[in-house]
Amino acid sequence: MSEIHRVVVVGNGLAGARLQEEIHRRDPTAERVRVVVYGDEKHAAYNRILLSNVVAGHLTPGDTRIKPENWCERNGLETHIGVAVTSVDPATRTLTRSDGGADTYDTLVLATGSRSFLPPAPGMTDENGAPSDGIVAFRTLADCDTITAGTGPGSRVVVIGAGLLGIEAARGALMRGSHVTIVHPRSYPMEKQMDAGGGAVLTRVLRELGMDVALNARAESVRTAPDGTRELVLSDGSALPADLVVVAAGIRPNVELARTAGLLVDRAVVVDDDLRTSDPHIRAIGECAQHRGEVYGLVQPAWEMAGVVADQLCGTGANTTYDGTAQITRLKAHDVDLASMGEIDIDPNDLESEVLVMSDPTRGRYAKVVVRKDRLVGAVMLGNPEVVGTLSQYFDGGSLVPVDRMTLLLGHLVGGPTESANPSTMPDSAVICRCNTVTKKQLVGAWRGGAHTPEAMADKTRATTGCGSCVGVVDGLCEWLHRADPPDTPAPQDIHRDTVTATSRRSS
Ligand SMILES: Cc1cc2nc3c(=O)[nH]c(=O)nc-3n(C[C@H](O)[C@H](O)[C@H](O)COP(=O)(O)OP(=O)(O)OC[C@H]3O[C@@H](n4cnc5c(N)ncnc54)[C@H](O)[C@@H]3O)c2cc1C
Repeated sequence: MSEIHRVVVVGNGLAGARLQEEIHRRDPTAERVRVVVYGDEKHAAYNRILLSNVVAGHLTPGDTRIKPENWCERNGLETHIGVAVTSVDPATRTLTRSDGGADTYDTLVLATGSRSFLPPAPGMTDENGAPSDGIVAFRTLADCDTITAGTGPGSRVVVIGAGLLGIEAARGALMRGSHVTIVHPRSYPMEKQMDAGGGAVLTRVLRELGMDVALNARAESVRTAPDGTRELVLSDGSALPADLVVVAAGIRPNVELARTAGLLVDRAVVVDDDLRTSDPHIRAIGECAQHRGEVYGLVQPAWEMAGVVADQLCGTGANTTYDGTAQITRLKAHDVDLASMGEIDIDPNDLESEVLVMSDPTRGRYAKVVVRKDRLVGAVMLGNPEVVGTLSQYFDGGSLVPVDRMTLLLGHLVGGPTESANPSTMPDSAVICRCNTVTKKQLVGAWRGGAHTPEAMADKTRATTGCGSCVGVVDGLCEWLHRADPPDTPAPQDIHRDTVTATSRRSS
């Protein structure tokens, strides 16, 4: 019998925990691959994406747990919680740990993720570089505890950064009753996913929800006012009183371990299409990896990378390589529906592209699509969620868009292609769950294989177990299949139960 391959995963976040699960699915009795995970956080693996829902009060920290209690033990999996890997020696394939122990590996997988960037402003950090009192990043479950403790009626919260996370944190604090100001250095929020026109509408939406938005403003320092309260000083010299400052000013990949091990590091750990680093026995996945120049900040690529590495290590897909992920970003803030994909910042007069824009600031709506050679190459949709599914299908599939481009913007209002958001007419290739890259075809296959409830479909395919925004579509698909392709046995009654759309389902 051949020897068991020992895989050590550094990081028990979304990429690391998924890799362990993917290997377990392929080799449940660990006959070929033995996987050990080290995670420095003091919790079992949790779904980081759902932290915004915790801040908003829609979920408890416990709801974010990825697997039920003792899942690893019951499945014979080795996970060391609260233990950091402190150094790696590629020459001897050994590592040291924060608990004083050491380990060896055949393959090491770095899944160390990122940390929040703290602007180098006086008063922001203590002498160890950790956030000062009253300052918190927005990255971990522990950060969430601090945010929920510091928000509520009467508290003044300043959020630094109006990107995706900043807006989600600000919306959550507002829902808890705090007075919220969001401070952003650019002239409009979410400039990576929006153009200036959409940004102006988004700013108006945020203000109408009740938060103050300070644009073109930088955090200069944090100081104590004469009355002993905390203030955030801005670049124009003004000062904002702040009981709590939440920092969402960007992320930085955790690359120190890789760097000291002598691996090639650019903005993140450089990997090839096999997700191998410059050392052939070390791979990197998730936010700490840089693939073809891209450093991703979303879960879909992290989980796709985990699948590829699991296939390669288990020999279940030796020819599988990672080719990159087309990203679609969705904001998960209550009452603000925003989706953004592909090339956005294209000028309407660009001769190579067709650019259509619809702006309805009074109703908080903005839509822009960019078409090139009859294909959708970019879109931003604010306040128009019905159209997003259809646009994603054009964007993912690269199919020809309708001759009347206006239907892309307005969808059903002009009899346009939102029909394809209907489960019966949706193409098989439509990606329903983005986080897990699950298509309609896979869901229908799960149904035909006996998964006759949304939960059973989630177990089989993992759809709905990421950010949860596809819960409604999967429920709709399941209801449609009950009518169109009824199972032999009576349908379970629970398919019409209330589904919690803000949360995602947990796979077992
Ligand atoms: C509030 C919030 C909301 C988000 N919402 C979305 C969303 O809606 N959609 C989306 O696609 N993405 C979202 N993201 C981004 C998504 O969470 C990340 O892309 C994903 O977590 C990346 O997974 P990862 O495993 O690479 O990193 P992480 O999940 O950060 O995991 C890395 C883990 O490794 C640990 N670690 C680091 N160094 C060591 C070491 N030396 N030893 C042991 N352990 C170590 C870290 O502590 C961490 O636990 C969100 C992120 C946040 C913070």
